[in-house]
Amino acid sequence: MTNEELKQFKAAISITAVAQSLGVDVSHGKCRCFFPQRHTHGDRTPSVSISEERGYFRCWVCDDVRGDVISLVQIVKDCSFIEALSWLMEQYPFLVPPSARKEMERQAERPQSSASWRQQAPVQGRSPQSHPPVPEMERPSDPEEPPLVSDDDRKKIILSFLKRLSPVDNTPAAKWLAWRRIYKPVWDKMLLRTITNYEAVNNSLKADFGEEVLKYVGLFNDKGHLRYYKHPLIFPYLDTMRRSFYFQARAIDETVKPKELNLRGTVPYPYNLSALNEKPGWVYLCEGVVDTLTFLGQKINAVGIPGVRSFKVEWLSLFKNKNVVLCLDHDEAGRSGMEYIGNLFTQAGIHNVILGEGMENLPTAMKEGEDINDWFGGKK
Ligand SMILES: [Zn+2]
Repeated sequence: MTNEELKQFKAAISITAVAQSLGVDVSHGKCRCFFPQRHTHGDRTPSVSISEERGYFRCWVCDDVRGDVISLVQIVKDCSFIEALSWLMEQYPFLVPPSARKEMERQAERPQSSASWRQQAPVQGRSPQSHPPVPEMERPSDPEEPPLVSDDDRKKIILSFLKRLSPVDNTPAAKWLAWRRIYKPVWDKMLLRTITNYEAVNNSLKADFGEEVLKYVGLFNDKGHLRYYKHPLIFPYLDTMRRSFYFQARAIDETVKPKELNLRGTVPYPYNLSALNEKPGWVYLCEGVVDTLTFLGQKINAVGIPGVRSFKVEWLSLFKNKNVVLCLDHDEAGRSGMEYIGNLFTQAGIHNVILGEGMENLPTAMKEGEDINDWFGGKK
């Protein structure tokens, strides 16, 4: 596996899910240390933080108990880096790039290589020095800060931010949406919001929560200001109860780069989660919120992901009973992304097709470089 492939492999895996599958009791991003003997009272109050968003864990007492998902497997299974990686590849075979899969099969044919470490005794009581050092490249460069606010409080603050925003009606955001042929029924359905008075929102948040907390939550930048000065259009990611603890902010001035700002942290689920209702049927999978809204405007069932690289394996189960139409951009990156995600769905037994495949020669086919919104006549 190349470094890039390894990065992608790790990014697609939830460190929490891996910890749980190894029998680690994770609650609110914390678990007990794997070396309880080093802690007073056997680490009754969990000292290990697990950061789902960064894919890291860290014990606040033991300096050497930290690392990424591979280090976690190494520590819990008391095995080497290679053994931990092989174990993860066995758990997530569909995430393994084809080149590495061949290598894995070769390894499996060699009789003595894999069986011994899989049946290792549990970690309790053994000396911490016995586990091999984490390779230099796998060490987190800067250790995670201790949590300043709990997960629940973080959600409350995000919710409170969203409540301070205005509906988009009669604002520059509305004009921008209409230019893309996305109209009011969709604005209302998806609770689109906009920042009309940046100063007021900025100041009231600061007064209520304080700069440090807001920076920590990811709403404020390092300079202590609300991040969305140039990104006033807010797309909340509604859950099935139409609440939202995650959002994406969009610039409406086309010269602003990047066009979109994601709230820092893990994307909790695809955009328009309520389309994944477990009822048999088709769902269109888009890259980005704007393409998703375009489909919704056409009364077509669609969900969005912020990018191919942010698709999580854990989301596959949400697509239960659905057939998926992959609708990524018609360009090089989009095509390789569709191949990657299509493979994930196929491995999970979910039927999927690529939008327009086999219809390339029809006059209505998507042109090279087009996205869904262009295809439906937006921006014209
Ligand atoms: Zn510890």
